[in-house]
Amino acid sequence: MSPQPGSARGDPSQEKSPQPGSARGDPSQEKSARPRSTSGSILAKGSQPAWRDDFPLVVDTDVVYLDNAATTQKPRSVLAAIETYYETANANVHRAAHRLSDEATRAFEAARGTVAKRVNAAPEEVIWTRGTTEGINLAAAAYAPTVLQPGDRVLVTELEHHSNIVPWQVACQRAGATLAAAKVTPAGELDLDDFEAKLDGRTRIVAVSHVSNALGTVNDIPWVVARAKSVGATTVVDGAQGPAHLDIDVQALGCDFYAFSGHKMYGPTGIGALFGRRELLEAMPPWQTGGEMIERVRIEETTYAPLPFKFEAGTPNIAGAIGLAAAVDYLESLDGEAIRAHEADLLAYASASLSQIEGLEVVGTARVKGPVLSFLLDGTHPHDVGALLDQQAIAVRTGHHCAMPLMDAFGIPGTVRASFGLYNSRADVDALTQAVRKVRSML
Ligand code: PMP
Repeated sequence: MSPQPGSARGDPSQEKSPQPGSARGDPSQEKSARPRSTSGSILAKGSQPAWRDDFPLVVDTDVVYLDNAATTQKPRSVLAAIETYYETANANVHRAAHRLSDEATRAFEAARGTVAKRVNAAPEEVIWTRGTTEGINLAAAAYAPTVLQPGDRVLVTELEHHSNIVPWQVACQRAGATLAAAKVTPAGELDLDDFEAKLDGRTRIVAVSHVSNALGTVNDIPWVVARAKSVGATTVVDGAQGPAHLDIDVQALGCDFYAFSGHKMYGPTGIGALFGRRELLEAMPPWQTGGEMIERVRIEETTYAPLPFKFEAGTPNIAGAIGLAAAVDYLESLDGEAIRAHEADLLAYASASLSQIEGLEVVGTARVKGPVLSFLLDGTHPHDVGALLDQQAIAVRTGHHCAMPLMDAFGIPGTVRASFGLYNSRADVDALTQAVRKVRSML
């Protein structure tokens, strides 16, 4: 049987993600111990946030990196934690009787505890995944068939990333259910009246993003959950853009599932987590099957391991989990309020600066937004603008941002999107504004 998270082999609730080899002077421990900023004050124009130095690529490149909604850069402590794991403790987890395996298991389960604590969940309610996409697919493939009957409904919104549409389409097709999408307002907010109108008594699942990757809109998840509960629907939150910018408390949000990705919150690619409420996870059948997720296998039948292992078939991404826990430790070493104030300042400053450019239209003006600024330049295609910005060493994303229904709702092919991370500065925004002005003068 797989060890319980929280067992003596590595109790995640007792330890703060001890890195493998920490007794031997783990560099990640030194680097993540940055003193907390004591003020939420906004940095002066042109100055760089103190924590920028923690990100080697950001410091060493001449590219102004404004594509953080796609993926974030990694702090030294995350890189060090991964390297240290491979150098000092690499072994397969939960299996062998030897010391290295024990050490790897301890670090792996401690990482689960660190991530669970960060979102206020129990360790066994946190399933490791490859990322948000896999987390939503898990819920759509293993949970949806247990509740969807022909004629039932899954409700999403027009704001969703394809990862929070296509898995539900497939689940609906298989069950004979229908998929409905609540509309967005011209500002890019969820149209609450339309949401309520589409939330009928046949709605079994409501799947909504926490923060829109395309427009930055922050949805009011407790409101969505309360409305969904009123018709007995289960809630799945696409949290890909949440944890890098917001403190996530799944109890306060009240949702049943919350999926997120390590690489969007300063951790590695290929790792993420799905929070699921214990009762739901316990009642669900497994999704992928094979080694690691079993208790006893006979040719005739198999019994499954307890949570969370029931949903973790095969050798997991051990280094990724350890790297993600290091990213959580890194975020916890900073002053969350100061980061939020800094990112809000960048968004406000960028919105004000870019809006002054003739023919530039900001797409998505929700009242509550994450640090994402989508825009269009009159008479230009977003891809052309992106290519011309790239020539000036400004990295932005252009296109539909994996949100084609949203682009259709706005009647546009796509946008140019600048998305900010904690290491960006007003100087980066100035560089963007200057570069867009130059593009404007060229076209
Ligand atoms: N949802 C949203 C809102 C996203 O921004 C993304 C990534 N762009 C995803 C889902 C998918 O995340 P991942 O590719 O890490 O699985």
